Amino acid sequence: MDDHAARLTIDLSALRANWLTLDRLSGAAETGAVVKADAYGLGIETAVPALVKAGCRTFFVAHLSEAIRARAVAPHAAIYVLNGFAAGRMQDYVAHRLRPVLGSAGEIAAWRKRPDDAEPAALHVDTAMNRLGLRLDAALELAGSTPLADLGIGLTMTHFASAEEPQAADTQAQIARFSALQAAIQAPDSPNRAIRASLCNSSGHFIPGVPFFQLTRPGYALYGGNPTPGRDNPMQPVIRLYAPVIQILDVPAGEAVGYNGRWVARRDSRIATVSCGYADGFPRNAGNGPGHPGGAAIVAGRECPFAGNVSMDLITIDVTDVPEASVKAGDFVTLIGDTLDIDRVGVAGRTIGYEILTNLGRRYRRLAVGA
Ligand SMILES: *Cc1c(COP(=O)(O)O)cnc(C)c1O
Repeated sequence: MDDHAARLTIDLSALRANWLTLDRLSGAAETGAVVKADAYGLGIETAVPALVKAGCRTFFVAHLSEAIRARAVAPHAAIYVLNGFAAGRMQDYVAHRLRPVLGSAGEIAAWRKRPDDAEPAALHVDTAMNRLGLRLDAALELAGSTPLADLGIGLTMTHFASAEEPQAADTQAQIARFSALQAAIQAPDSPNRAIRASLCNSSGHFIPGVPFFQLTRPGYALYGGNPTPGRDNPMQPVIRLYAPVIQILDVPAGEAVGYNGRWVARRDSRIATVSCGYADGFPRNAGNGPGHPGGAAIVAGRECPFAGNVSMDLITIDVTDVPEASVKAGDFVTLIGDTLDIDRVGVAGRTIGYEILTNLGRRYRRLAVGA
C-alpha cells in the first residue's frame, strides 16, 4: 500500500456501451445524456468526452456552473440546464451557448430578453410531480396560442415520477398527459410543429410501447445503475471501488467491534480494517448491527459482511471465513464491483444506487480505464 486512498476505477468503454444500448432502444429519437451532479459523481470532465466519443450530442446538467464545465469539454454539443434560468446570468448562458430549461411564466418572461444569437431553451411541463415546470393546462394554453419559437423555446419536456414502475397508473397517466400536449403541438394548424419533445429518463427507455418523441434523457443507466429494478440489469457496470486493508485483528468471541459496540463477535473472529468510510461518501447506514445486516466487501473472492458501524475513514469487515493466508495488510478488498453492484450497495446503505454514485468520494484515487 503506497497511500491510504481507496481506488475508484471508471470504465469508459462500459459507459459508451451503455449509451449505445439506450440509443438502440430509443430508435429514431436522439439519445441525450444527463450529466448533472458532476456526471453522477464520475466527473464531468471524465464522462462527457467519453459520451461525445460514443456519439452523444445533447447533455443535461442541473446547474449553470456544471453547464460551463460541460461546454469546456463538449464544444459542439447542445447543453440544457435543468434547474431553470438564473436571469441575472443571461450573459453566461449566451456566451457559453447554453439552453435554460424554463419552468415558470417568470422564467419565460425573463428569457424573452435574450439576444438574437441565444440558443433555443426548453420548456419544462409538470405532468405529475409538482416539483418543477409549467402545469399542463398552462402549457396547453401557451402552445395553443403562441409560437414557442418566438419565445426562444425549441423543446418541451416532462419528467417521470416513477418510470421504474412502468405498469403504475401514474406512469401511464403521465404518458397520456404529455402525449396530449404533443398532439396539440402537432395539430395541423399549430404554429409549433417544429418544436421537439423529450420524455424518457433511463427507466423510461424500458417502458413497453413508450413514445420516445425526439430526444431522451438517460442518466443513471449510463453509469451502470439498473433501470429495471427487480429484473436483470441490462447495463454494464461502470465503476468499481477497492479499499486497502490497513490491519487485520484477532477478536475473541464476546468482544465488540467499532463505535458503540454495535457488533459483537459470536465466535473467535478475524476483522480486517480497510481505509474507506463515510467521509468518502460510503453510506454510514451500511453498518452492520442489530436489525440491519448492512454492507459487505469481497475479500479474496468471498463476500464478507461488515462488522459494526461504518466510521468516518474506516470500515471493519468480518473475514473469519477467508483462509488466513489469503488476506493481509496492503491487499485491496472490493466495496463496489462484481456481485456488489451499486443498486445492492444502495440497499445495504438504506438508500438508492443514485446516492451511492453522487456521493463518490473526493479522496479516492480515480483511474479511468477503457478510453
Ligand atoms: C435526473 C433527471 C433525468 C435522468 O434520470 P435517470 O433516472 O438518472 O435516468 C432526466 N430528466 C430530468 C428532468 C432529470 O432531473
